[in-house]
Amino acid sequence: MSAAATRKPGHQPPCVHHQLTKDAELRALAEGEFAARVAGWERAGHVPDDVGEHLAATGVLGALVPARYGGTAWTHQRYGEANRLLGTLSSSLQSLLTVHGMVTHALARWGSAEARSRLGELTAGRELAAFALSESVSGSDVRSLTSWAERGPSGWRLTGTKRWICFGQLADVFLVFAMTESGDAAFVVRRDDPGVRIIPEAATAGFRAARLAVLELDRCAVGSERLVGRPGFGLTQVGGRALTLGRLWVAFGSVGLAQSCVQATLARADRAGAAGRRLKDFQLLRGLISDTDVAVRGAHLLAVSAASALDASSEWAVSEVLAAKLAASRAASLAASVSAQVHGAEGLLADGAVHHRLGDARVMEVIEGNTQLVQDLLAEQVIARWRAAPEGANR
Ligand SMILES: Cc1cc2nc3c(=O)[nH]c(=O)nc-3n(C[C@H](O)[C@H](O)[C@H](O)COP(=O)(O)OP(=O)(O)OC[C@H]3O[C@@H](n4cnc5c(N)ncnc54)[C@H](O)[C@@H]3O)c2cc1C
Repeated sequence: MSAAATRKPGHQPPCVHHQLTKDAELRALAEGEFAARVAGWERAGHVPDDVGEHLAATGVLGALVPARYGGTAWTHQRYGEANRLLGTLSSSLQSLLTVHGMVTHALARWGSAEARSRLGELTAGRELAAFALSESVSGSDVRSLTSWAERGPSGWRLTGTKRWICFGQLADVFLVFAMTESGDAAFVVRRDDPGVRIIPEAATAGFRAARLAVLELDRCAVGSERLVGRPGFGLTQVGGRALTLGRLWVAFGSVGLAQSCVQATLARADRAGAAGRRLKDFQLLRGLISDTDVAVRGAHLLAVSAASALDASSEWAVSEVLAAKLAASRAASLAASVSAQVHGAEGLLADGAVHHRLGDARVMEVIEGNTQLVQDLLAEQVIARWRAAPEGANR
């Protein structure tokens, strides 16, 4: 009996993801008029200045903020799904969810009363937030930060240069990491603070619509209420938690990106190839199609599992997130590369969608922890899990 004959009509595996696909509010992020607008921005390579207003009505900008601070308090599962859906259309726009989510969550959890009182502006999309950790010589190695914050009588003076900030050209609020005499720390810097200069970043092959910026701080003076958490707490707690969340959103965004590449591959492979056969009938191509399918579906399940681990506050949630990030960013690379290959010369058009998605996939293996760093961190977790249950808790 064929697989189609044994399948019950409408059968879906019993997982949270399939409940979420019926969520009309979420579907609106990837369908209809909104989706057409996003696709237009992606083609133009430019997300517009008023993107916050476009997204505000969906509730997605307050998803990681409790209701008492004006948020919509979504589960990790639901926000992950929003990232996946936007990721199918535009990795650039999806990256806004990554960074805005990381910063709003950090401010709700560790921000001063003043920072929390301003969260409503961010959740309503009247302001946007960006994450400013990386520097020219400090990317993966966050401990080598050179940005410095000097304590003064009524606050801090920050000096340094932050690179590669997604949506830095538009952001009103930056979560900036700097060293202090008492250790690493996180600060809120506002666009209009004295000593702030924002410069558009050099063009990148991926995330080309994400309005990347360089943030220059020249003795930028901020009040003591701008400290997020306390010195010595910046990278491990505020940054650490933000990066765990960021990795999960990158995992879901990568799944969405990979799924759109698979769609493009299948459409192209359905066209006539050589000797009167369609490309999808060539055995070697069928191998690429099935390998990609396994990688993408596996990554999606890992992302869903990681989100539910965070929702359940599982002690191994970090390990689940690392596994999801590793698998999903690699699945995106594979799916984008197969798509480019199947498209032949069309896949090499410098300004073509296939090529852009390949660039986006490259970014996924670099940001929020490059592939090799994530492998290293995950190995540590796997070994710790084994130590905790040497008999094999996973069996
Ligand atoms: C499009 C884009 C958007 C970005 N958005 C942001 C943002 O919004 N905010 C922000 O703060 N930063 C952002 N970044 C910066 C990004 O986080 C860094 O590029 C990333 O952390 C890697 O740092 P790096 O480029 O200095 O590379 P490096 O750290 O120098 O790494 C280069 C390579 O060395 C290898 N490597 C590095 N460390 C290890 C290790 N521990 N073990 C084994 N191999 C290793 C890896 O192969 C890695 O790819 C963005 C970057 C890009 C390209």
